[in-house]
Amino acid sequence: MKDLRFVFYTEQEINKDPKTANNKKLKKLIKTLNENGVEFNKKYSLITNIDSQQEIKEARKQKGLKYKSHWSDLKKEYLHITEFACPICSSSLQRYAHIDHYRPKIDYWWLTYNYENYIAICFDCNSAYKGAKFPLFKDKKKVVLSEFKDFKELNEKEMPLLINPLFDNPFEFFKLIIHKRLQKIEIIPKSKDKSSFEYQRACTTIEIFNLDDKKKDKKSDRTYIFGRIYFPLFNLAKEKDRFKKTKTENDYSKFKNKKKEVKRTLSNSWIGFIENDNYLIY
Ligand SMILES: [Zn+2]
Repeated sequence: MKDLRFVFYTEQEINKDPKTANNKKLKKLIKTLNENGVEFNKKYSLITNIDSQQEIKEARKQKGLKYKSHWSDLKKEYLHITEFACPICSSSLQRYAHIDHYRPKIDYWWLTYNYENYIAICFDCNSAYKGAKFPLFKDKKKVVLSEFKDFKELNEKEMPLLINPLFDNPFEFFKLIIHKRLQKIEIIPKSKDKSSFEYQRACTTIEIFNLDDKKKDKKSDRTYIFGRIYFPLFNLAKEKDRFKKTKTENDYSKFKNKKKEVKRTLSNSWIGFIENDNYLIY
């Protein structure tokens, strides 16, 4: 199963995806962005002193204004991919969405105009939790512009501990625990090997985005989100468990019907955890 929101969004994909296959506007946008990015990086890559850092900031601001319509057009496309849900916490992006830079602009200013570095996420995920955090695995060092070739190599070199919802499949990293007695949903790392990259990535993502709702001191929407999804998720998981036991067609259609019913409250990625048997009821 491939959740739409986690499709790796490249020009190749745009050509393949029937929903965007004829989207000339988007292709043009990405082309312009790439050209602007190259131009921007060429102009500012040699600058290292403090005054000029200010210059970079200023230039970025001006460019941001100049291409303001690009951001909103791109945002529309991203929201189409994420089905108007935040790819981290699944809250609705109907009213507010923010194009965030996965690698923060402060250290990776040269990726400001690279669309592969964008994710559209909600205000809380972006401002309250992620900010400019971008931890790397063990002793990995941040790559600089002169060392950059492509994103695949960049990810291999840096081993970022934050999962990127546009590149990574969440079912490889996380598991859902449905606590019956506590009426609570818990997200835990799927890997059990605490020293592994997979385990560390899952833990760091949970911690930074407060997916375990531990940072109660922050103005958190997590309590609300997890409270709202508990019953639909639990009911869906119950149907799935029944079908797994009986394997009858009747129970399968009951599960399918329940899926239709909960689709109003649950986004595809929550449903995906149940579909992929990536859950446990305690
Ligand atoms: Zn969010």
